[in-house]
Amino acid sequence: MGKNHTSTRQGKKNKADFRAECAAFINEDGTKGAHCWICGMPIDYDAPWDDFKNDDRFQRDHIKPVSLYPEFEEDPTNWEPSHAGCNRERSNNSPRVGLAPPSRQWT
Ligand SMILES: [Zn+2]
Repeated sequence: MGKNHTSTRQGKKNKADFRAECAAFINEDGTKGAHCWICGMPIDYDAPWDDFKNDDRFQRDHIKPVSLYPEFEEDPTNWEPSHAGCNRERSNNSPRVGLAPPSRQWT
């Protein structure tokens, strides 16, 4: 019984609550839906989480990757909205938030 893992009931609720919060967020320009923290573009909140072909669908990203910081998995201060595609590309690298892709490879 892992207390702080997403497979728990509380973890699933956290995830759903965070998605709803992001979907309801009002941007400075009046549009609805928090943007992707990695690329800064709007997210397709209508796409179901399991629409795996849709890279624009919402995913909860972790600022501190869960693979490195499992203790922060359910910490709300560690969550940001992201595109599924951006999240996957970011992997465990640190992003340059809201900017064009880095001009050099991070090795
Ligand atoms: Zn994105």
